[in-house]
Amino acid sequence: MAANIIDGKAFAAKVRGQVAEHVARLKEVHGITPGLAVVLVGEDPASQVYVRSKGKQTVEVGMNSYEHKLDAETSEADLLALIDQLNNDPAVHGILVQLPLPKHLDEDLVINSIAPAKDVDGFHISNVGLLGTGQKSMVPCTPLGCLMMLRDYHGSLSGMDAVVIGRSNIVGKPMAQLLLGDSCTVTIAHSRTKDLPDVVRRADIVVAAVGRPEMVPGDWIKEGATVIDVGINRIERDGKNVLVGDVDFASAAARAGAITPVPGGVGPMTIACLLANTVTACCRANGLAEPEGLTA
Ligand code: NAD
Repeated sequence: MAANIIDGKAFAAKVRGQVAEHVARLKEVHGITPGLAVVLVGEDPASQVYVRSKGKQTVEVGMNSYEHKLDAETSEADLLALIDQLNNDPAVHGILVQLPLPKHLDEDLVINSIAPAKDVDGFHISNVGLLGTGQKSMVPCTPLGCLMMLRDYHGSLSGMDAVVIGRSNIVGKPMAQLLLGDSCTVTIAHSRTKDLPDVVRRADIVVAAVGRPEMVPGDWIKEGATVIDVGINRIERDGKNVLVGDVDFASAAARAGAITPVPGGVGPMTIACLLANTVTACCRANGLAEPEGLTA
């Protein structure tokens, strides 16, 4: 049986459409334009691409985009002063500091200096705690995108066995919290997990967030399971640079019930969810109803 392909590109376009509609209503009815500030320190080429793409998509859905590009040598005090200024700027509803930061800057300190209500990446310790205790929070964008696709495909996730491979603060841990919040029975697997194939074979839902090209072969996948591949790995194949996930797509698609491709699966959902989080933050800041279906 060939798996259904979960089209993240099309889903992300739908989410951006919903965000744009909500932004238009906020402008027309309330005279409010949501604003997202993105802070980039240094000149990491991949980060520059992400920041450009975030800015472009922010403007495309009708929001204001504020880009702050700082020198790689920027001091911690200067970066914290900028964040303080953005925290107090009523035109800014979301703040994102592009990671990784240069080595001399303390990432935890910087992230935890963002006002939690404006922390659209959902990395602030307050948001981590709120998510862990099932309270309203800002939810990290990549796991939020995975959850949206899973809910869209299955309706209810209640009672399903889910395995998340990877325990990072950015993807694995918040993903596991979200699946638990939707009443899955959740296992978090990682580099020290004993007999990973056996753990994965029990799962109705597999979320792979490792960063190892095609490490999950099809024969680890339970017949009919849903596979969400978060991995983005650049490899050389037949003399060409190609992007592959953490799952061996061809063999997994032969066993899975549904699977996200790489590229075109989870990737496009991440920025769409950043825009969704910004509009949610804007509504919360103004005491307005949040857009339905765009939060966890
Ligand atoms: P990370 O390096 O922070 O974490 C990787 C995790 O994988 C660790 O918890 C580690 O324990 C686990 N791991 C390592 N080797 C393993 C093994 N052999 N078996 C089982 N587990 C193992 O990475 P991350 O930031 O969580 O990202 C994971 C992947 O997802 C990367 O490929 C990254 O590029 C991708 N990613 C994609 C998006 C997106 O928008 N689609 C966003 C974030 C990350």
